[in-house]
Amino acid sequence: MTRKYHIVGNWKMNHLSQDIFSFFAEFNKHADKITCHAGIAAQGLHLPLIKEHAPKGGFFEFGAQNSANNNSGAFTGETSPEAIKDLGCGFTLVGHSERRAIYGEQDALLNEKTLLALEKELYVIFCVGETLEDREANRTEDVVRVQLDEGLKNIPADKKSKIIVAYEPVWAIGTGVTASPQQAQDAHAFIRKHCSEKLGFNGEELIIQYGGSVKPSNVDELLACPDIDGALVGGASLKPADFLALCVAASK
Ligand code: PEP
Repeated sequence: MTRKYHIVGNWKMNHLSQDIFSFFAEFNKHADKITCHAGIAAQGLHLPLIKEHAPKGGFFEFGAQNSANNNSGAFTGETSPEAIKDLGCGFTLVGHSERRAIYGEQDALLNEKTLLALEKELYVIFCVGETLEDREANRTEDVVRVQLDEGLKNIPADKKSKIIVAYEPVWAIGTGVTASPQQAQDAHAFIRKHCSEKLGFNGEELIIQYGGSVKPSNVDELLACPDIDGALVGGASLKPADFLALCVAASK
């Protein structure tokens, strides 16, 4: 059986309520063309709006961009995984490079967030990726290996199928520069092998998304790579026509 691709948009801190209404008014008209898994990760405030306006029918999930390492209590400004689940979200991102770089989130914290989100039965899209400096110094695999080893530590065997890894080279995020299909494929093959041989994942089933300036003009060549199972998409997920084009490409 061929696996379905997973295309997830990361809206970051963009859009106001009216943009969300018009996004789905347009996107939903063509939802019958989509047979891949699709989803949007949005700001917490927008999740109820997405729940109300997104296509129903199972192929579409909405989720959070970040999730706390506690479920409740005196943690001003945080969003609890329990509340994320309670709203009906299917997943959360953990370890996006913007969380790592701007907010200083480190491996141990990301591991706590991952474990707690899994405990609440959320899927976790766990993001890894090297900086340009790392790549130029030939450290891509070393950096990604540590991010995986530390961030995905102690995951119970029965929760491993709820992890999706997103390989997002930092130099390709929001820059318009995409990893070449060969660069992406090499990193994905490494991630699959490492997760299966060293971290006890089922390598054949593990979904690995590529992220970094994915757009309608490059999605086909990326999805054609054997170890690329989908995409995590920032900029091109904001416009309904572009996001739809990505979902349709992944539905062929
Ligand atoms: C992202 O934010 O995860 C991302 C991949 O952004 P972009 O597609 O804009 O590079």
